[in-house]
Amino acid sequence: MARFDTLVSRLSLRGRVEVLSGLHIGSGRTLAVEESEEPVAKDFLGHPVIPGSGFKGALRNQLEALLRGLDGHSLWSCDPLEAPCPRPPDDFEPGLKDRKKERERHWYRVVRDWDADRLLAGSCTVCRLFGSQWFGSKVSIPDLPVVGGTWTNRNYQHREGTAIERESDTAAEARRVEFEVVPQGTSFDLEILIENPQAEPGSSDADALGLLLIGLDAFRAGWATLGGKRAFGLGRVAVHLDEATVVTADQIISGAAVSPLRGPRLDEFLNQHRVRPTATPSEGTHVPSAS
Ligand SMILES: [Zn+2]
Repeated sequence: MARFDTLVSRLSLRGRVEVLSGLHIGSGRTLAVEESEEPVAKDFLGHPVIPGSGFKGALRNQLEALLRGLDGHSLWSCDPLEAPCPRPPDDFEPGLKDRKKERERHWYRVVRDWDADRLLAGSCTVCRLFGSQWFGSKVSIPDLPVVGGTWTNRNYQHREGTAIERESDTAAEARRVEFEVVPQGTSFDLEILIENPQAEPGSSDADALGLLLIGLDAFRAGWATLGGKRAFGLGRVAVHLDEATVVTADQIISGAAVSPLRGPRLDEFLNQHRVRPTATPSEGTHVPSAS
């Protein structure tokens, strides 16, 4: 794999995220009197925005879920919250087997002295692409602004639902909540930047764009959802990819003009990169087809 401090090339994918069933990506509770109790994230003009970090998190979740469904494949995903990689060997500190927290702390002290190559080698496919506590992400996604034409004269919708607040294990209190929704038909501009998207010749590394397409195709096929309030049927989106631009370090330095790939040439380019897992996926999981 190309090291993170070496830029070989950079890929920019541009497209749109279209809201199919209403979208609620919250910005936390508001104190403003005129605001909804649970507003959506907005830019300084008051237009809706999808935070890039939120979209990236949803993509990562999709990829993690799909890779966990693959048995015995070289593509794999850790559980970044419960058991982040690199993982300790089974025989590490057997005396601490029943004291998970302590064992994790001991393991942390071992791993923090590893160099970058060793950390990468011990990390899962998803951490290598999206980053971990040990190294940065190869993928960056700026905030997604609303496409102007799809927002003119549109208003936020307000919906009501019942929230169950659990104060204790025994008492649950139902309460009416009102929340803001970005309506169906609204579109957002998407840009995804990937550093060194191609695996180095001869390396066993997976193609970064190919991996990303596994997650993106799940959105394109309508299996993945974005944002909150999914119990209310919100969050279905369609992702459309319109163009891809690959620039090499040489081209960046020389300022050479690079024209983006669009239409059939874009489809051909994406198909060349799609990862086709050879192992049989577990029952009940979906792997996006190449078509
Ligand atoms: Zn991992």
